[in-house]
Amino acid sequence: LKSLDSNMVSKVKVVVRVRPFLPEGPRNLTPCVSVLSPEYPLTNEVVVHLKDQETSRNKCYKLDSFFNQDDSVSEIFEDEVCPLISRMFRGYNATVFAYGATGSGKTHTMQGTNELPGLMALAMSVIFSMCQSSGSSTEISYYEMYMDKCYDLLDCKEKEISVFDDKDGKVQLKGLSRVPVSSMSEFCEVLSCGIHKRKVAHTGLNDVSSRSHGVLVIVVSTPSNDGSGLVVTGKLNLIDLAGNEDNRRTCNKGIRLQESAKINQSLFALSNVIYALNNNKARVPYRESKLTRILQDSLGGTSRSLMVACLNPREYQESVHTVSLAARSQNI
Ligand code: ADP
Ligand code: MG
Repeated sequence: LKSLDSNMVSKVKVVVRVRPFLPEGPRNLTPCVSVLSPEYPLTNEVVVHLKDQETSRNKCYKLDSFFNQDDSVSEIFEDEVCPLISRMFRGYNATVFAYGATGSGKTHTMQGTNELPGLMALAMSVIFSMCQSSGSSTEISYYEMYMDKCYDLLDCKEKEISVFDDKDGKVQLKGLSRVPVSSMSEFCEVLSCGIHKRKVAHTGLNDVSSRSHGVLVIVVSTPSNDGSGLVVTGKLNLIDLAGNEDNRRTCNKGIRLQESAKINQSLFALSNVIYALNNNKARVPYRESKLTRILQDSLGGTSRSLMVACLNPREYQESVHTVSLAARSQNI
């Protein structure tokens, strides 16, 4: 009964993904993170062990699943994301976050490369193949949140998007572009324009993409098959979160410090929402940040969410910082 209960309340799964050592770096390193879980998969949780190779300090955290350096993104996709996609065709929403420090593999996990497509392309490809049998259509939006402001990445102008509550109390993004896509080549073209914009927006030159949250929204509209003419819509948010920073370790000043404060505020608000959802709290503090307010219809309720906590195997302290925030939801 207890496990049934915890299944029902655990609405945001938190999994760890450790990226490989980079081929150009030193060889024969021992990763600072490993999994200790004799009981897995019986209990559906893993114990992740973080160990500082220099000082032997170490910590353990309980999380939902673990993907090591050799696991490809397809494994995460098949195990964790595919089940969310089939629900979209029945009108449910879902959100997938990549969370972690800069350099931990968030963008690689979400966007991937031409040779190794990330979760965005893998999701789109499965959605297109499911659309064929269900007669559904698909639209995408892509926006970025930088310094608590929201920018449309699919509009030719750099346009700030305002966030408001409509008359039904639903949060809306005013004038956000929705682009219909019906093939992978169309999708890739639209997305790469947006990715390019994300790299050069706001500052003209500086790449702020690791200091902003990038949100790809895929909306699937499916005609119901009872002849009523009604359309069921389901939404998937795929989010490359801004790199979380430990201000005790970085020496940010000026604009960097302001950015960092905004990033940490919104990540902290997100972890509070996840904590409230997974611990069945009566009040979920969606309103404490713009990001969680926008995501309210896709986080909690009947929605399912997944947080992929990305770790760099060389960075003990950073990994502790990431996992401890992600694992707040895990009730250790
Ligand atoms: P982040 O977006 O978290 O700052 P990136 O995704 O840019 O981090 O990854 C940092 C570096 O590590 C990049 O050079 C990326 O290509 C590489 N990398 C990350 N994850 C993987 C992976 N699973 N396999 C191979 N290379 C990876
Ligand atoms: Mg990145």
